[in-house]
Amino acid sequence: MELKICHLYPDILNLYGDRGNILCMEQRLRWRGVDVVTEGVSIGEMLDASQYDLIFVGGGQDFEQEVLLEDLNGGKTAELKAAIEDGIAVLAICGGYQMLGHYYETWYGQKCAFTGAVDLYTVGSKQRMIGNYMFSCDELDTTIVGFENHSGKTYLGSGVKPMGKVLSGYGNNGEDGFEGARYNNVFATYSHGCLLPKNPKLCDHILQTALTRKYGACELQPMDDALEIAAHDYMCARLSQK
Ligand code: GLN
Repeated sequence: MELKICHLYPDILNLYGDRGNILCMEQRLRWRGVDVVTEGVSIGEMLDASQYDLIFVGGGQDFEQEVLLEDLNGGKTAELKAAIEDGIAVLAICGGYQMLGHYYETWYGQKCAFTGAVDLYTVGSKQRMIGNYMFSCDELDTTIVGFENHSGKTYLGSGVKPMGKVLSGYGNNGEDGFEGARYNNVFATYSHGCLLPKNPKLCDHILQTALTRKYGACELQPMDDALEIAAHDYMCARLSQK
């Protein structure tokens, strides 16, 4: 088996070690004997989404999001929309999450027209929502720990489910108690950096989703995740004391 990952805008959207999520996916696949190839696609490079099994988009500040707008709307938007409707697995973080929605209107009034691949939109606020946080994820019957840093407040449309409910921190907008978005095989979250290393259950679920789409039902072998679970539980305990 082989999984082909596209890292979209790797040189522009990559905050707080977001790329570590790709390393984590690659390693957990290799440990199970699954081959993996990752290719970066950035500004000026054509995206042929049908070549890939999984697309990863990291976070970026308002400036970076504005820089890529012209390129995004020059062909990548149509590719992303079609691939998401076709069930490609996507993991999108923060600025990348916002990019899947209809638009992001910054606090300074700049309106970035995004892909609209997922029915959601984001509005900038004066407040920065920053810190370690955690949320429950019913789909996986687990708690997810992460780190958020955004001023954008994201609101989901009717066909889009949240990834979970905030237990500590802000999540999508600090108002409705929701965090992240789930639509088809899209997993979108505000959680940066070591999201997947600290949440191995989520990592395997995303990989399983991509593999099942390509090869039909298949199970990833369980692994000894004692260290990862210890890191996860430590953060859960710390955040529960807040
Ligand atoms: N620019 C966006 C915001 O502040 C996204 C930031 C990020 O990716 N960390 O809301």
